[in-house]
Amino acid sequence: MDCLFCKMVNRDIEPDIVYEDDHVLAFNDINPQAPTHILIIPKKHIATLNDIEEGDLALVGRLQYTAARLARDLGFAEDGYRVVMNCNDHGGQSVYHVHMHLMGGRRFTWPAG
Ligand code: ADP
Repeated sequence: MDCLFCKMVNRDIEPDIVYEDDHVLAFNDINPQAPTHILIIPKKHIATLNDIEEGDLALVGRLQYTAARLARDLGFAEDGYRVVMNCNDHGGQSVYHVHMHLMGGRRFTWPAG
């Protein structure tokens, strides 16, 4: 399958890994928008948030759990951080394999642009 993030899961492309288990992979974003900018992905290929099925609920929870644990381990959980998932064109999604952006180390503004 011609999916950039699947290639990372399969190590056809070597990501800068910060965490991995049987179900998720977390790696540094190549174009960081914050002092820490990590992408957390399911190893299973799911194209967009719209494609999540009931059987994926534990997996989606694991993405969020991994983000919170990484924020704690990297030391910015107390200050706070931003978690973002973009969906399709209007959401600004550019890689069609579900991913959670975890950004920390600075203050973020709201609303999003
Ligand atoms: P956007 O590109 O608008 O942020 P997404 O939410 O789909 O849209 O995010 C894709 C993310 O993947 C981007 O933050 C981008 O910098 C990151 N990215 C693209 N290619 C790589 C790569 N080879 N290694 C790490 N991160 C990557």
